[in-house]
Amino acid sequence: MDRIRVGDAVIHRVEEWRGTFMTPQTLFVGYSDEAYAASKPLVAGPYLDGETDAIDARLQSWVVEVGGLRVLIDTGAGNDKTRPGIPLFGNLRTPFLARLAAAGFTPADIDLVICTHLHVDHVGWNTRLDAGEWVPTFPRARYVFPLPDAEYWDPRNRERYPPKIGEEVNAGFFDDSVRPILERGIAELVAGPQDLTAHLRLEPAPGHTPGSQTITVTSRGRRAMFVGDILHHPLQIMNPSWNSIFCEDGARARASRRAVLERAAEDEAIMIPAHFAGDHMVRVVRSSDGFVPAPANP
Ligand SMILES: [Zn+2]
Repeated sequence: MDRIRVGDAVIHRVEEWRGTFMTPQTLFVGYSDEAYAASKPLVAGPYLDGETDAIDARLQSWVVEVGGLRVLIDTGAGNDKTRPGIPLFGNLRTPFLARLAAAGFTPADIDLVICTHLHVDHVGWNTRLDAGEWVPTFPRARYVFPLPDAEYWDPRNRERYPPKIGEEVNAGFFDDSVRPILERGIAELVAGPQDLTAHLRLEPAPGHTPGSQTITVTSRGRRAMFVGDILHHPLQIMNPSWNSIFCEDGARARASRRAVLERAAEDEAIMIPAHFAGDHMVRVVRSSDGFVPAPANP
């Protein structure tokens, strides 16, 4: 779905990139053939290549219109970035801003940019290249970043943090997509649960990165929950112990994933992860031994 209403809020999807990315066997830590065979029938089709098992993936952002604000959630890989650790997302020239315009928004329309976490494929459009300088893409926006990630990924803090799992793959993003925002004083660094507005709540869900957070949109009692990379694929709904190889702290990532699934089921929220293909969003329903996905719009 590219546009969905949640109470009075309207959520628009803006796609940056689509393709296949790894397989369940190579992406997930904790993968087993037995668990895969049991859960694959629930998610095959639009989420997995039928012949190769390659994961069908997206880089996509979301514009949420709620309470008079236009909020952009996650900003993809961006154009023109040098990415030696992940050439797939380097030197892109996607029409992302044209697609944003097609959804009805110019960069100046965006009031708030929120990153679910700081990773190379979630921060890219924070900035764009202008005469050799990285400048904010969204000139009026306040940017909201998780403080634990802003400290963890800053190369200037390398001595304070041990070698990171994502060190190589994430090389470069902080200096071209985060620091230019921090240096202009237009970022707010957040830690701990908080209500940003009457309709937007941030809650920590650490593990994938130290600062990973969920963003819950509430309107007229309906909820949508943006969960970033707490899940990369619907297979993790049936297998919440499966981490991605990009999760920094495995034990905390598993605990956060279970807690987020519990809450999505409890609240009957539409859960919107960052990289899902298919409908790009699901509901989470309890089953006899855990959770299963259900259509967002039954
Ligand atoms: Zn991530």
